[in-house]
Amino acid sequence: MELTDIAEPPTQIAFAVTDICNLGCVQCSHSYQPTGYRHSSVSPEVIRAIAAHATRFSLHGNGEVLTHPHWPDYIPETAKNVGFSSNGLLLKGRSLDLIFEKKIGWLSISIDAGTPEAYAKVRGGDWKLLWENIDGLLARRSQQPEPCVPYMMFTMCVMRANMASVPGLAKLAVERNVIVCFHHLNHGLTYSTPWNDGNGTFVYNEQEIGEANLPFHDAMMLEAKTIAAAAKRNNLYLNGRFFGRQYNNEPL
Ligand code: SF4
Repeated sequence: MELTDIAEPPTQIAFAVTDICNLGCVQCSHSYQPTGYRHSSVSPEVIRAIAAHATRFSLHGNGEVLTHPHWPDYIPETAKNVGFSSNGLLLKGRSLDLIFEKKIGWLSISIDAGTPEAYAKVRGGDWKLLWENIDGLLARRSQQPEPCVPYMMFTMCVMRANMASVPGLAKLAVERNVIVCFHHLNHGLTYSTPWNDGNGTFVYNEQEIGEANLPFHDAMMLEAKTIAAAAKRNNLYLNGRFFGRQYNNEPL
């Protein structure tokens, strides 16, 4: 193997502590290929040394960081701007304590739904627990010396299966004054899958977010924007690719 010398260490480090996840979301490999994932075997000392001078350090990959029992061991004492994406279902108890003890700077909560029905369909997780955890975290954050840390964001991969619930997530985020970033998926797979809530068979078709649904997509985004505007909030962003249109983190 040929090694490359670099003049300075990288300032932005992304390291996946695990590919294991406690969910099997319909658009994710964890649904159609549910086995074969593992925690990182790289030693925390190695990663801490690499990330010690990073100006931004993220811990997530294709899994849930909080399933790793030793995820905080990877964070160097000197690291700044450390954060990760989480599905939020394990954000309680000791894991919640560690968010504040390790001074996590940002958290992106991937939700992918704005109603319990859409959540059951695309994620199959516990909707009530999710919002208990989120509200518990926000309440705890409000008591901190820096009440905006960790900086919080909700995210949603907008698909045909959850498009109708876009306004629902906008409302939940507006009520909590948290930013939402709506993303689009690229073209992908089509397959039949049991509904994650066990309710029959759901034909998941990524192509379904197609051009025919663009008017409905735009109507949902407009409704979300109206909800935010009525509450005098400017907390919704649209990022991604949708059939010829490119959105670059545009405010809705
Ligand atoms: S939470 Fe993320 S990593 Fe886990 S199954 Fe869902 S999309 Fe995949």
